Amino acid sequence: MTRLAGKVAVVTGAASGIGEAIARRLVREGAFVAVCDLDGHRGPEVAAALEQEESGAQFFSLDVSQEEQVRSVLQEIADRYQKIDIMVNNAGIGKAGTVLEQTEAEWDAMMSVNAKGAFFGCKYAVRQMLMQKDRGSIINIASVAGMVGVLNRAGYCASKAAIVGLTKSVASDFAEAGIRVNAISPGTVDSPWIQKILAGQPEPEVARSQMEQRQPIGRMGTPEEIAHLVCFLASDEASFITGSNYVADGGLTAR
Ligand code: NAD
Repeated sequence: MTRLAGKVAVVTGAASGIGEAIARRLVREGAFVAVCDLDGHRGPEVAAALEQEESGAQFFSLDVSQEEQVRSVLQEIADRYQKIDIMVNNAGIGKAGTVLEQTEAEWDAMMSVNAKGAFFGCKYAVRQMLMQKDRGSIINIASVAGMVGVLNRAGYCASKAAIVGLTKSVASDFAEAGIRVNAISPGTVDSPWIQKILAGQPEPEVARSQMEQRQPIGRMGTPEEIAHLVCFLASDEASFITGSNYVADGGLTAR
């Protein structure tokens, strides 16, 4: 599988879960992957495992909510590898709560990482892609929480809806320039994030079963199932697709 041979990809939040699966998949398809994450312990481990593959990977310490960090890390990657073909804005955080419980600090944190992080990622990826002969593809990981009112997730829903709007705006502004921008909205995916939430429940197995049954397909998604979609959207097979929001949710929003 070398659909992405010679491509340079950046994946944020690549030290865990969905981001790690995306990084793994893109490397297997022949892309070099910049593994970007806050986690300076797990991030280098993920990159080291992928370095064994032919196209390779490297860890970059990055907090996506800090504009100067996003600017300088993307600049460093472009200087070193001459281009950025694929930008995956995946890093995200979530705190539970209705508007009654959520604090301003929680709201600000989710907006900073989820919405502002994607904004900075788009901004500096577009800036670089406009300077390249072959432009590129940007993929923003939103959520079904950006489309429907997932219970008890006020700030998270708002931050993910912002990503869907941002995706459409950037796609419209730069379609003519040849840059494609799409979002993916997963339903519940069995990642360390969800595993941590379940471990904190009084009856984790009951909570897991409830989470699985919420999706008509009767199970959670896997990180790899989201990575397949990223791979498609990053490839030339998706050359006519921009400004779209792809839902991968086992039918959750179909009901
Ligand atoms: P995860 O917690 O397993 O992984 C998230 C990664 O992002 C971690 O490695 C973490 O260190 C990193 N990160 C957090 N804040 C960061 C920051 N400021 N800068 C850089 N890196 C940062 O989560 P996951 O389930 O793999 O989720 C990945 C993305 O998918 C998130 O955007 C999440 O909102 C979205 N999503 C997840 C699900 C799900 O059910 N798991 C569903 C819909 C959407």
